[in-house]
Amino acid sequence: MIKNNKIFKVIKEFTNLQVILLCFKTKYDLTSSLVRMQEFYESDSSKFRGKYFDLDTYMDWYSKKHDNIFSYFEDWSGFNLPDYSIKEFEKLFKNKLRVKEEIVLNAINKNLENNNTKYYVIAYQENDYFTLKHEISHALFYLNDDYRNKAINLISELPSDIYDGLIKFLKYKKYDSSVFDDEICAYMLSEIDFFQNTIKNITKYQENFIKLYDTYIKNYGVTYET
Ligand SMILES: [Zn+2]
Repeated sequence: MIKNNKIFKVIKEFTNLQVILLCFKTKYDLTSSLVRMQEFYESDSSKFRGKYFDLDTYMDWYSKKHDNIFSYFEDWSGFNLPDYSIKEFEKLFKNKLRVKEEIVLNAINKNLENNNTKYYVIAYQENDYFTLKHEISHALFYLNDDYRNKAINLISELPSDIYDGLIKFLKYKKYDSSVFDDEICAYMLSEIDFFQNTIKNITKYQENFIKLYDTYIKNYGVTYET
């Protein structure tokens, strides 16, 4: 089902799984709409993760870490939000929501089929299929125990030099250690060339993650070609 909105459309393509895709036309609208919701969920700073904060405070903090430039709107291209984090955000930021956040939350709530079943929200820019795969992996990791267990198994089979290379990358990107496993699976699908150029002998391991991902999304009636 696709419902139009001025800055994004809502896509629901998964059978038997509540995944809501918010497909934005521009990267600016995407990042400026989702910044607080995403950082509330998984900022590497406890100043923001799980806490109320205003956008100015976040912008000042982020700029300080990036040579006094607020590069967030260029740095990020996809967002992933589990249901519990969205609900907590809604509660804590109530009455202090920005207009863009209100639009996003309304779209999510309007498109939920069942509020009592687990769900996951993904936001990305149209035609950015690598990012979309990355974010869908997060959704599967959260919603499907089987996918998560098999993915964690694949991680445990990684040779230590490859694993260390991936962790170094995630630390550089400032991810919190609580999401390392989840992010490894997602990045194995979205940073194909970059990892092949920077981490020796990674190709055959990437293929395992891609195979796992393809099997699961086909089971849910979805195929995204890149
Ligand atoms: Zn990710």
